[in-house]
Amino acid sequence: MKRKLIVAVASLSLLLGGVPGMTGGNDVQANSLKDKINEVKEKRAENKSARKETEAEIASIQKHQEEVNAEIKKLNEEVAATKSKIQKKEEEIKETKEEIAKLKEEIAALVKRIAERDKMLKDRVTAMYENGGSVQYIEVLLGSSSFGDFIDRVLALNEIAAQDKDILEAHKADKKAVEEAKAQVEKELATLNEKKKELESLRASLNAKVERKNELLHELEEEEEHMHGELMKLEDEGDLLAKQQAAFEAEKRRQEAEARRKAAEERERARKKNSSASPAPAPAPSVSGGMFSRPSAGRITSTFGPRWGSMHAGIDIARAGTVPIVASADGTVIKSYRSSSYGNVVFIAHYINGQTYTTVYAHLRTRYVQNGATVSKGQQIGLMGNTGQSTGQHLHFEIHKGQWNSSKSNAIDPLQFFN
Ligand SMILES: [Zn+2]
Repeated sequence: MKRKLIVAVASLSLLLGGVPGMTGGNDVQANSLKDKINEVKEKRAENKSARKETEAEIASIQKHQEEVNAEIKKLNEEVAATKSKIQKKEEEIKETKEEIAKLKEEIAALVKRIAERDKMLKDRVTAMYENGGSVQYIEVLLGSSSFGDFIDRVLALNEIAAQDKDILEAHKADKKAVEEAKAQVEKELATLNEKKKELESLRASLNAKVERKNELLHELEEEEEHMHGELMKLEDEGDLLAKQQAAFEAEKRRQEAEARRKAAEERERARKKNSSASPAPAPAPSVSGGMFSRPSAGRITSTFGPRWGSMHAGIDIARAGTVPIVASADGTVIKSYRSSSYGNVVFIAHYINGQTYTTVYAHLRTRYVQNGATVSKGQQIGLMGNTGQSTGQHLHFEIHKGQWNSSKSNAIDPLQFFN
């Protein structure tokens, strides 16, 4: 049994790496389930903060959109104002052009009248002073009845010529004035055209600004849409995580219920076995007055101490038949499980006179207590067995001053406490 224990310690060290938490199918499962639940909870917290961040980003994008919208509104108002200014300028230009056209007509009419008057005057002068005209002139004069009549005729002829000349001069003056007016109006037209051009370029630049702002707004809208998509994904993920957590918790409850049911079954089986066992079951050891009492009836087959270069960290008690195993002192079950080396084993923590102790009950046929159970001294915790690395039914019992560890450096001799 000592040789077996060397193997047991070695494999335990490998399995546990010195950690007082132990291996065992159901408990590992329960532990990993608990880890899973914690993991899911952590992920849910991350998911929640990611959702909050995304919501904040959406809010900031929406605020930016509002600002850009306000800018676009202002720019559009400027565009409208510029447009109405351009329309006004266009009207002014139209009026000015009409005025110029009218003045051109007036000038044309005057030019025509000047030409006619000029021609008439020339014709008359020609008629009077040049070729055949002089004959006519002389004839007009010779036709006079008296000298007085002659004078009248001469004066009349001169007057007609002078009048023609005056009218011509007046026409010329009119023409000059109209041409000056036309030049003035054309200058005005040029100024108007220039102003209109300026307004049009202002309108173009405002339109370009509006276009840029609209593009920005479009980008912001796309970004917002993308963020909404992200938020939806996060919400889906959050929902999934919540369901996962609920499922894990349900599984944990199911496993716990299953373990309780199995334990009850096992107790019932053990009770039946006890009642039908032959030879008659061994009595539980009587509770002794010392710090620790005997954990079972039977013969001490191996004592505590170094043997053949290795250490036997406990004692072995053997007895045939159905042998109750009891808690050696009041305490709390640290771990009750099936180990490959210890077999069915129970670890109990004790606190006696300000000192912690750990007791170990190994190779049990049956365990009656669960992790975390409170036990009192002499309370039955299982039956002696031959599970794990053991040859023949016996109890391997250890007491540690302090915590159990894989090197069993805290182990003390249990026999010192028994009386
Ligand atoms: Zn042993």
